[in-house]
Amino acid sequence: MADVVIIGAGVAGIQAALDLADHNIHVHLIEREPTIGGHMAQLDKTFPTNDCSMCILSPKMVEVARHPDITIHTCSEVESVSGEVGSFRVRVRKHPRYIIEEECNGCGDCTLICPVEVYNRFDAGIGVRKAIYKPHAQAVPDIVIKDQEHCIECGLCYDVCGKEAILHEDEDHERLIDIEAASIIVATGYGTFDARNKRQLRYLAVPDVITSLEFERMINASGPTGGELRRLSDGKPPRSVAFIQCVGSRDIAAGRPYCSGVCCMYAMKNAMLIREKNPEVDVTVFYNDIRAYGKGYEEYYERAENLGVRFIRGFPGEVFEGGDHLIMVAEDTETGEVETFHPDLVVLSIGLEPAPGSEEIGTMLGIPHDKAGFFDVADRKVGPVLTVKPGIYVAGTATAPRDIPDSVTMGGAAAMRAYLDALRVG
Ligand SMILES: Cc1cc2nc3c(=O)[nH]c(=O)nc-3n(C[C@H](O)[C@H](O)[C@H](O)COP(=O)(O)OP(=O)(O)OC[C@H]3O[C@@H](n4cnc5c(N)ncnc54)[C@H](O)[C@@H]3O)c2cc1C
Repeated sequence: MADVVIIGAGVAGIQAALDLADHNIHVHLIEREPTIGGHMAQLDKTFPTNDCSMCILSPKMVEVARHPDITIHTCSEVESVSGEVGSFRVRVRKHPRYIIEEECNGCGDCTLICPVEVYNRFDAGIGVRKAIYKPHAQAVPDIVIKDQEHCIECGLCYDVCGKEAILHEDEDHERLIDIEAASIIVATGYGTFDARNKRQLRYLAVPDVITSLEFERMINASGPTGGELRRLSDGKPPRSVAFIQCVGSRDIAAGRPYCSGVCCMYAMKNAMLIREKNPEVDVTVFYNDIRAYGKGYEEYYERAENLGVRFIRGFPGEVFEGGDHLIMVAEDTETGEVETFHPDLVVLSIGLEPAPGSEEIGTMLGIPHDKAGFFDVADRKVGPVLTVKPGIYVAGTATAPRDIPDSVTMGGAAAMRAYLDALRVG
């Protein structure tokens, strides 16, 4: 049976891969990061059930790694595509990991001895990692990567590795792999709005203004603070937390006129998690409209209110520093009252945008974007995973902001279409 290529191994790509492989179709899962999992691996809990995100995702990641019909290509990107449905030729560029993948057993001894600490992208910037590292404890594949840009060649990792699995800079190179595939699924996911573009909110200018993704890492037990809520300025627990919604969503001036779909729900989730764990902390959500459209979502909103989360319809215009706390003034547009707030921690609910590199992927595959830059589908009503190119399908947030259940559903739908193509080729 012909193979299928899936670009992007977030939850949408993972679901598509498992569904295809379970039907004996061999899948090549192409992921540019050193681990599969995408954004879901960064989340603490997930709405609407507040289940632990990794408790759901990690078994799927392990299943992918163990499946005889899935080949994972991490640190890899598609370089070119030719051919047509039934006989695509996909050229993949594999970036060097500086590790002999078959030899590394993921023991992590090298990461402990490495003396270099750098910004940790997985922890969304609030933690550090080593120059030789595993992106996170449940990474798949469960092996390390050497970041050659920051490696100081001290030699400690080579000495400690009993398997001699670590390579020097000149011992590993980019490689090209050619794959024949009946069809291609694009599940490249999303990027997040750069909150520095809203200068008045003082992101990165004031340490206690953080993004929602940073917050997800902070309240995660395996995150940089061990799950403890902390101010980045002085490490103290905050007494009051403010969530500001629509940062880079429904904002024409910021070039993001669309709703990001998930921010109301994830802010409610995180507000509830604070109140459940620390009932003494005041939590306020500043919003425009609460969009709780899914099954059980309105009840979720009510639960947040019942837990004492305060919702104010109105946005603070600016965030100011005020000694040991922040100062914001906002009008409650439902009552007309103007109030001054003194939060210890401000969390910006950043919107979703097309993943970096989406434009290049679209040009390479010949599939168009919508105005926002997400991949356009052939028919939004009855063909939500079809593109204008036969044999090329799209799934998950690569097409628009959406939540995990919708992304998984699309992954399954795209897999079904790809399965039929593979069946036709035989
Ligand atoms: C702060 C925050 C909290 C959230 N909380 C929730 C929640 O509680 N519940 C919920 O349902 N949803 C939540 N979401 C939304 C959720 O993150 C998404 O619905 C889900 O992760 C989308 O999965 P995906 O596979 O479409 O995309 P992604 O998770 O973005 O995965 C895409 C993958 O493709 C890879 N990729 C991208 N481009 C390329 C390329 N060119 N080549 C190879 N690989 C590539 C990426 O590295 C990534 O691994 C939240 C979002 C945010 C920002």
